[in-house]
Amino acid sequence: MDPRGFPTTLPEFQRVFPNDEACARYLENLRWPHGFTCSKCGNIGEPYRFGKRTSVVLRCRACHANVSLTASTVMKSSHTPLSVWFWGAYLVTTQTPGQSALQFQRQLGLSRYETAFQMLHKLRAGLVRPQRDAIGDKHPVEVDETLVGGRTKGEGRGVHHKATVVGAVEVRTRPPGAEGKKHKTMVYAGRLRLRLVSGRGAKELTEFVQENVAKGAVVRTDGWKGYDDLAKLGYSHEPLVLDGDTERTDAHLPMIHIAFSNLKTWLLGTHHGVSHHHVQAYLNEFVFRFNRRFYPMTAFNSALGLAAHAPAPTYETLYSGEWIHPAA
Ligand SMILES: [Zn+2]
Repeated sequence: MDPRGFPTTLPEFQRVFPNDEACARYLENLRWPHGFTCSKCGNIGEPYRFGKRTSVVLRCRACHANVSLTASTVMKSSHTPLSVWFWGAYLVTTQTPGQSALQFQRQLGLSRYETAFQMLHKLRAGLVRPQRDAIGDKHPVEVDETLVGGRTKGEGRGVHHKATVVGAVEVRTRPPGAEGKKHKTMVYAGRLRLRLVSGRGAKELTEFVQENVAKGAVVRTDGWKGYDDLAKLGYSHEPLVLDGDTERTDAHLPMIHIAFSNLKTWLLGTHHGVSHHHVQAYLNEFVFRFNRRFYPMTAFNSALGLAAHAPAPTYETLYSGEWIHPAA
């Protein structure tokens, strides 16, 4: 068990959430930590409980108003049992690498692929916090771009269907005396941001930095001209002027290169190449897990939509292409 009370192994998870009733109790306790309070008449006290398999409803004993426990969560109006949603959220937030819809379907024993696909995307949508603070207010930030997904075989040089991803990551320094057995390096990666962009142009890159990195932050980049405006825009820009030397670039931008490398391994291993349409969703999931790797409970609650009330996509909008995955 994690010190914050979150189950860290499958047997523990099973003990904490053995059935739909246990899951419903969890939702109820989270919403009313000091006991049920009717939002309509204000009555405090034990409600009637209707443990229908899917939407769990509580009823006030005084005014008989109904409250759905899954309203404003990703589980809203779903026919899938709570316990399956909880398992799904556990898988999405704890397993590395993450899930493909097919793996997800098999592990949850779902008969329909569409159900698995839809659940997975809803859980991922729950991972995006609507309020995203700018990073870099206290730490230097590394910014770089990379290509992910797609195939280049036989397409010729310079022609590709890979997606361009720009990323920013904080470089944090451990307090003096923290070095030793436990930590090999004095610096480590802080918060990460990733975005799918249409190209490496100054407009895309500058916009990304402005929307994700606090003004005045130290921003380290390579010598690419796409970053030339950063100093003018109020950033303390540290470009590596000698471009093209891989070793020197790695030494200048170690954290973002590690993040990119992990991202690519994960995408290849889990998703076997990624369709362009869903790249941002995968980036969001990766960023989410990366940024919350020290907070499993927060991750679990966010995935279920219990902490952040991010809008979730419907199956139709996912397929029609209407749904725009919010950038993490
Ligand atoms: Zn009431």
